[in-house]
Amino acid sequence: MDATETVPWLDLTRQYQLLRQEILQTLDQLMQQGSFILGPYVQQFETEFARFIGARHCVGLNSGTSALQLALIACGVGPGDQVITVPATWISTSWAISYVGARPVYVDVEPDTYCMDPRRVEAAITPQTRAILPVHLYGQPADMTALHVIARRHGLAVIEDACQAHGASLGGRRMGTFGRVGCFSFYPGKNLGACGEAGCIVTDDDAIALRIRQLRDHAQASRHVHAEIGYNMRMEGIQGAVLGIKLKYLEAWTERRRHIARQYEAAWAEVPGLTTPVERSGARHARHIYALRCDGRSNLQQYLARLGIVTAVHYPTPLHLQPAYRHLGYRAGDFPEAEALCRSQLTLPLFPEMNDEEVARVIGAVYSWAESGRGSMPSAA
Ligand SMILES: *Cc1c(COP(=O)(O)O)cnc(C)c1O
Repeated sequence: MDATETVPWLDLTRQYQLLRQEILQTLDQLMQQGSFILGPYVQQFETEFARFIGARHCVGLNSGTSALQLALIACGVGPGDQVITVPATWISTSWAISYVGARPVYVDVEPDTYCMDPRRVEAAITPQTRAILPVHLYGQPADMTALHVIARRHGLAVIEDACQAHGASLGGRRMGTFGRVGCFSFYPGKNLGACGEAGCIVTDDDAIALRIRQLRDHAQASRHVHAEIGYNMRMEGIQGAVLGIKLKYLEAWTERRRHIARQYEAAWAEVPGLTTPVERSGARHARHIYALRCDGRSNLQQYLARLGIVTAVHYPTPLHLQPAYRHLGYRAGDFPEAEALCRSQLTLPLFPEMNDEEVARVIGAVYSWAESGRGSMPSAA
């Protein structure tokens, strides 16, 4: 085992080396045409991504956070409203709710899938509740069937945070098509990543698509006619061009991610003290982030670091305990499953360009941690 080379948890440069020529040629054309904002490359990507997801519309935006914000506005969520969401996620899910003047109302997550627990939603509904905003965390589909039953019973909109779930599906249907609006991020590290900031919404609703199309471009109903207060949230041309190139590879990349996850799963199923992330029954997990749960997380993290395996923690602090949300009045202990998840999860290397030797090194390193009695450090690398 060559422990001098580190195994990164993500290395974006490898993907660029693979696509370099294709990207540079396309960007040269784009520069010569000057299609810097929206334009033909973005339009073409919107058409292709809508087809990929199986939605009528895709509207290209400047980030996933913007996608969530415009989705909430288009679903009529505003000041004084409440939106039911989860505390175990990237903070943008809650930012968007705050940006429109509404209040995030948290419910706990399922301990095995890490997604919103539908059994806890009804108790959180009040007369001010307007929408449910589940997250397909790490690429795992939330239980959309159960959430839809609740949303319909109470007349609530469902907006999906699919920012980590490109190509994930449930019952053969892609995530992003279950809610009134599905929101995606193309932040460079996502399964489909731009070369800068980008995001989009998908929807089957013609009116919502049109409204978001206008809102992103200063709410222009036509040139210099501003129907309402708008935003500058347009997708850049170069992002549309790069995303269009990468979209062709997304299925193969997702399969590679899933293959690596299956190898991890098979290797570690019996290791005591570790809980490997499951795949919901009937679902296709996009394996954006491979976060296993471990009782002695920092011990495992340090052990792996000594062997040159780089890991990360997504996300150490649940949102209800973030200083920015102190005013919501939540306390430690309010969401025990989310808090336990944040304490125990550790993200291991998993990206499509990992080679088999690196996968084997990660597997072997976790094994040796388990066999060494977890705690004693490996002799210096
Ligand atoms: C990445 C991400 C976002 C935000 O996307 P940006 O493009 O970075 O604004 C929102 N929600 C989740 C769950 C994410 O992972």
